[in-house]
Amino acid sequence: MSRPVMLITGASAGIGAATARLASPDYDLALNYRSDRDGAAAAARLAEAEGARCVLCPGDVSRAEDRAVIYDALEHAFGRIDVLVNNAGIVDQSAKLTDMTEDRLTRMFNINVIGAMLMAKEAVIRMQAQGDGGAIINISSAAARLGSGNQYVDYAASKAAIDTFTKGLSDEVAADNIRVTSVRPGIIDTAIHAKGGEPDRADRLAPMVPMRRKGTAEEVAEAILWLASQKASYVTGTTLDVTGGR
Ligand code: NAP
Repeated sequence: MSRPVMLITGASAGIGAATARLASPDYDLALNYRSDRDGAAAAARLAEAEGARCVLCPGDVSRAEDRAVIYDALEHAFGRIDVLVNNAGIVDQSAKLTDMTEDRLTRMFNINVIGAMLMAKEAVIRMQAQGDGGAIINISSAAARLGSGNQYVDYAASKAAIDTFTKGLSDEVAADNIRVTSVRPGIIDTAIHAKGGEPDRADRLAPMVPMRRKGTAEEVAEAILWLASQKASYVTGTTLDVTGGR
């Protein structure tokens, strides 16, 4: 029996790679990455050991030609899509708005918002043509609620856009049985903090979390996989916080 097909963007590291690992007993996987081919290949090897068929889909989700390559690879390998985990995302260095450039904001919104929306658009077109529903899980952030003042209001605003997009798109496609939800991770132990210039950020902030600890990528992946599954068959248009209470 063929398995449902899940496309995970940003599957070479962190939450995306953990989602691939935990999804591998149940799905065939299209694993997108932008630059870390080794990371994506390692995620694929682990998934294949659990019986998943995997295809690597290199590309930057903010580039039209790359999105075409990603979906071409998916279609060539599997010919369908059942779940999109819209996970690829970036932060930038901590800064106040007065120190942010237009280039920085453009890059942030091109990847975190426009890239995610257009990846979802391509998934919806295919799911509607297939005619048997689907699930899109957008990865937002607790920053969407908190605003991230003095850190990165650009990132927080990009994730708030994702939550609003989640609700709006869910209304557009609910009658097609395509469920659209978002997950808002809190302080999660991945390399994203180092990429934002503060490798120990998760440890620094952990005491401020009501549960007094950072979360793991696997804890976020479990929420993503529940939302993707038939166990969440009446859940759409909503966001799920995975934040230890933050
Ligand atoms: P991560 O470890 O830095 O991984 C990010 C992944 O996204 C990598 O696979 C990276 O690929 C990929 N990526 C980045 N830009 C891309 C682009 N333009 N096109 C395609 N892929 C791209 O980060 P993470 O912590 O797992 O974050 C995953 C998601 O969770 C993000 O949307 C992030 O905003 C969100 N989130 C994370 C936290 C946290 O505390 N970790 C909290 C809230 C929300 P390459 O390395 O191959 O370039």
